[in-house]
Amino acid sequence: MSDIINLLPDSVANQIAAGEVIQRPASVVKELVENAVDAGATDIKVVIKDGGNTLIQVIDNGKGMSETDARMSFERHATSKIKNANDLFALHTKGFRGEALASIAAVAQVEMRTKLADEDLGTFIEIAGTRVFRQESIQHETGTNISVKNLFFNVPARRRFLKAQSTEMMHIRNEFYRIVLVHPAISFSLIDNTTTLLQLPETTLKGRIEHVFGLARKKMEQQLLPIHIETDFMSISGFVARPEYAQKNANQYFFVNDRYMRHPYFHKAVLNAYDKLLKQGDNPNYFIYFSIHPDLIDVNIHPSKTEIKFENEQPIWSMLHATVKEVLGKFQIAPSIDFNTEDKLEIPTLDASVTIRPPQTNFDPEYNPFKTTSSYPKNKKPAFDWEQLYEDFSKNKIKDTDESGFDSIEIEPKIEEEQESEQMKLAVDESNDIDELFQLKKKYICTNVKSGLLLIDQFRSHFRILYERYFYQLQHKKGISQTLLFPEIFELTPNLHSVLTSISDDLHDVGFRIESVDKNEFSLVGIPSEIDVSNAVPLLNDLIFQINEMESTVKEIVHEKIATLMAKQTAIHHGQTLTRQEMKNLIDELFSCKNHSYTPDGKLIMIVVENNELERRFG
Ligand code: ADP
Ligand code: MG
Repeated sequence: MSDIINLLPDSVANQIAAGEVIQRPASVVKELVENAVDAGATDIKVVIKDGGNTLIQVIDNGKGMSETDARMSFERHATSKIKNANDLFALHTKGFRGEALASIAAVAQVEMRTKLADEDLGTFIEIAGTRVFRQESIQHETGTNISVKNLFFNVPARRRFLKAQSTEMMHIRNEFYRIVLVHPAISFSLIDNTTTLLQLPETTLKGRIEHVFGLARKKMEQQLLPIHIETDFMSISGFVARPEYAQKNANQYFFVNDRYMRHPYFHKAVLNAYDKLLKQGDNPNYFIYFSIHPDLIDVNIHPSKTEIKFENEQPIWSMLHATVKEVLGKFQIAPSIDFNTEDKLEIPTLDASVTIRPPQTNFDPEYNPFKTTSSYPKNKKPAFDWEQLYEDFSKNKIKDTDESGFDSIEIEPKIEEEQESEQMKLAVDESNDIDELFQLKKKYICTNVKSGLLLIDQFRSHFRILYERYFYQLQHKKGISQTLLFPEIFELTPNLHSVLTSISDDLHDVGFRIESVDKNEFSLVGIPSEIDVSNAVPLLNDLIFQINEMESTVKEIVHEKIATLMAKQTAIHHGQTLTRQEMKNLIDELFSCKNHSYTPDGKLIMIVVENNELERRFG
């Protein structure tokens, strides 16, 4: 019987190995550009011809290579980035395997020109299918210039497998983005045939994001909101975009230790933080950078894989979620509300000309982004100085420079109102500012703002206020319970017992007191102080039922659910008449909410009918 096992020739073995590292032109771009970054280049130019089928060229001004190193760099497992066993770990986390150049040379025709700074002559090497064809000294500037021609020239099956040039170009751009978005201090350019697709100067991180996605040109630079979290073992920073700029094909980037990663679980944390602020089908743009000790992550060492597992992902999920939520709340500005007291209001906006420094706050696990005035001491001023606004209205100190003529129409009734408010003062103490409010159809609260007529939905605003209050109580275990004189008995089917058990602490924190009576019977002995007795059992049943339907057991999400259901159920409804004082309280509380533009289920709380809209309609 003849032997059937042969040792594969080296060239074939190399091709097989190359298949792992080099799947398409974009993989070559990634490997070459990463090498240029590692070589300390400050300027990197990438030239592509025909979707990378004909040519991929990367030119850098990095440290270059000696003649020996230039030759060595094409050997498998040749890397300058690992010297001893201690480096092995770093090698894996950074993806250095000393395989990229060897793999590329196995399946393409490669020309390399390189020179070290302190040498007069550089080196030229031509290599194809692992065979060196030429090696000589040349004149060259410091740095490395590599051309990869006719990729897969010797592997026809793979060459045929390449997609349309435009598709390959799209993959190249994606790989390119993933690198340039972590190196704003390096200037990059990307040239497709003769067209310069991207010319990226050295800049800040924010500047880089704006350049890459053309945001600056669209005057949308204000859309990026900075985030920053710092703990003992990691930091997270970067930007999330305002919900208004969400889009179907959004730019969503996570990086860990300067490498791109995919992370569906953390992606959910970000999505969830947008709190249904997004229209259906829209996705938020984000650029989030994790920095963490490599011991705490598990990098899949395959260079083409981007999935990464963190140790202890749940607390990171919560931190990320809370931070994104906080920043979205903080920068939430009701559209078009343009107050009269411009000089007194501090509406935070981002100035594009100023380099943004992330806020220097450490992450506070106790932090609650949803403080409302009524359930805790008022220690921070609301984003809008609403009281000041009203004061100015009632004193009729309209310092309006609007030339539209609209305000001259407004002046007359103002004088009457001022007189009326003088009388009001006698009747309602300290309330000279509430006469500007008006309830429309027992549904909307109307008031006057500089840019027009502000309409606030009474149910939706109260829904938001209560939601934030309940959420705070849940997070801080601050709910107040009222004891029932006659406990209410309720039943649960056995499959719902475990649900009750799983949320019993939360229910307790928000004010429910429940005792077990019998196998399936429970007694409700205390309820949240804001809730009517007659509503308590149906609400509790609804809560248990809905929590049971939920997929997530993440505390944050469970809390959101409980707060939403309770708020919806207890908010004042349409059809309810409100006194002026009640309307005023509602507005004051709404504007001390972190988010006062949308309900927890994403519905608009207020609208402004603009002056020019009114004028247009009056002809
Ligand atoms: P790795 O990057 O994993 O070390 P590569 O095959 O990508 O492996 O590169 C092999 C070696 O060649 C690198 O370790 C580096 O020393 C050298 N090298 C590659 N590209 C460059 C470059 N553009 N400038 C300087 N040195 C380079
Ligand atoms: Mg490399």
